[in-house]
Amino acid sequence: MTSPRYLTKSRFKLAAGCPTKLYYSGKDKVYRNTMQEDSFLAALAEGGYQVGELAKCYYPDGIEVESLNHADAEAQTAELLTRDKVVIFEPAIRHGSLFARIDILVKEGNNYQLIEVKAKSYNSEKPAILGAKGDISSDMRPYIEDVAFQAHVFRLAYPTARLKTFLMMPDKAVPASVSGLNQLFKIQNVTGRTKVVTNLNIKPEDLDKNILALVPVDSFVDMVNKDGVHYLRYTEQLSVLADRWAAAYQADQKIKPDPGGQCGSCEFKTSSPTDSLKSGFKECWAEAYHFTEDDFKQGTVLDVFRFRGKDKLIADGRVRISSITPEDITEKNEGEHLSTSERQWMQIRGIPPEEDRGGYWVAEKAMRDAMSKWTYPYHFIDFETSAVAIPFHAGMRPFEPVAFQFSHHVMHEDGRVEHAGEFLLADPGVFPNFEFAQALKKELDKDNGTVFMWSGHENTILNKIIEQLENAPTTPENAQDLINFLRSLVKSGNRAMFDLCQLSRDAFFQAGIKGSSSIKKVLPAILKSSLRVREKYSSSIYGAANGIPSKNFKNFSWWIDDGSGQPIEPYSLLKHFSADLADEEAIAEGGAAATAYARLQFEEMDASVREKTCQALLRYCELDTLAMVMIVEAWQEFVIEN
Ligand code: SF4
Repeated sequence: MTSPRYLTKSRFKLAAGCPTKLYYSGKDKVYRNTMQEDSFLAALAEGGYQVGELAKCYYPDGIEVESLNHADAEAQTAELLTRDKVVIFEPAIRHGSLFARIDILVKEGNNYQLIEVKAKSYNSEKPAILGAKGDISSDMRPYIEDVAFQAHVFRLAYPTARLKTFLMMPDKAVPASVSGLNQLFKIQNVTGRTKVVTNLNIKPEDLDKNILALVPVDSFVDMVNKDGVHYLRYTEQLSVLADRWAAAYQADQKIKPDPGGQCGSCEFKTSSPTDSLKSGFKECWAEAYHFTEDDFKQGTVLDVFRFRGKDKLIADGRVRISSITPEDITEKNEGEHLSTSERQWMQIRGIPPEEDRGGYWVAEKAMRDAMSKWTYPYHFIDFETSAVAIPFHAGMRPFEPVAFQFSHHVMHEDGRVEHAGEFLLADPGVFPNFEFAQALKKELDKDNGTVFMWSGHENTILNKIIEQLENAPTTPENAQDLINFLRSLVKSGNRAMFDLCQLSRDAFFQAGIKGSSSIKKVLPAILKSSLRVREKYSSSIYGAANGIPSKNFKNFSWWIDDGSGQPIEPYSLLKHFSADLADEEAIAEGGAAATAYARLQFEEMDASVREKTCQALLRYCELDTLAMVMIVEAWQEFVIEN
């Protein structure tokens, strides 16, 4: 039996992003949907499941409508609503083809409270639901519109009911009053269906009644009802849009694509031409602009690095990268450093032939100046972190950053490289930050060599740990030592970490990576252009007895021919190690590492899967610092040895 084609709250949200997406949604065997693939894991990493379960604990008499079948869920809801007083979790409310499963519905006589629970960070001391101009802030608007849609459906279904609306969100202003809160809700695989199970021995004193704020949002919902819903470049009445989108979805009719900047992050995109599923993005652009495969290869305005003017150009029908003119991007000269606009133009026109060093461009003087300030031995560090919605311990606040892993490579003056150290602490319920800081100190305290990071994330995390060491109710005995050490590494410190990503942005450009300075893009590009890196890492030197010491690899070669003379992308090589893990357990990017940490914290997994997940995390983080080593080795080749 096929399920009815109702416009649900998630489809309403999808359509508010772009109405054409309704046509591609739910056709997972036809169209690639990159969101669908990890929606469960994304919610797990964000803490959505734990927050949802904690919210239910605030209503101990609540009754859950468990059925996933629309008709059964509706029938059970209707039956429960015959009671005078009741709290229902996930009630199914429908009017025509508008359908909403409300997180929590509280009924007292004819008074109802509709509560939408979100793992969205909220600060009751600085609520910021309204922006500077008095309108709903763009950050909060999707949540308010979501509640407004549910309230609309409810009012249509129960026109005489008196309804109040709320958002329930983790409150960053409130420190937890109890420890162990985030371990009360575990992910279990029950007969093939993953679900969150609340600890049955939970007692009222285990709960923190204040960590989730119940925020009344009637006035904001009224603003949406009065002013309309924002979608693409338009604003229209919620009731009109809901009916239009519901009708299109029910009839499986594609709403004519209206491309814009939103297409850049469209989830209905394939990442490879050999994908067995179709690309909704290509279908839209073929329909709107008669684009062919060749046109996609030439590039669109969406491909240009940090290009703010793309919406305007698309609205003018100038969608090809070749249609960008100097009036659209004014080239700004920043002397030795490559400005954003120069980077954009290098991407549009290509590297000037006289400056092309074989597919790459380098600002030699800027690069040499930077290198002249570095001190051996070089230390390359990378952190894996997470922001857990529900705190580990009393005194901590929701979404405090958790630093659970680092990797450390050292490069010596004579060119020797070693994977010198690593740290991983993902034991359930253990707050790792202070042990992380101790271990990092042990790694870096031995000399005064330059410490390298890729982007400012490491700096942000160290500042946060300093704050935690200054304010936590219990801290290590050597807290002040740790604080002094961390202070020396952050931006204002006497051994401030050097940001290689910034240097890459300022002084290096490689053809074919769309102006990106992501390490995941720069590393494969470097493997193509650096002879030194190619020669060194083509042999099985990595983790070999007389080669480069490694903690997680043995006799490994990182430059492997893909059959066409080009190197296989190193991060994709990591997936081969995880061949015996499920797809979602292979770790080859930062988001997957945070998700793996959430699973290690909250999922009941057997010891062997736990062990393999930890190994995958260690390999991934080691590659991140090795990538920095290889990039510096290549840059040295480009500017010193040439
Ligand atoms: S490609 Fe653009 S127009 Fe098409 S569905 Fe995606 S966002 Fe909408």
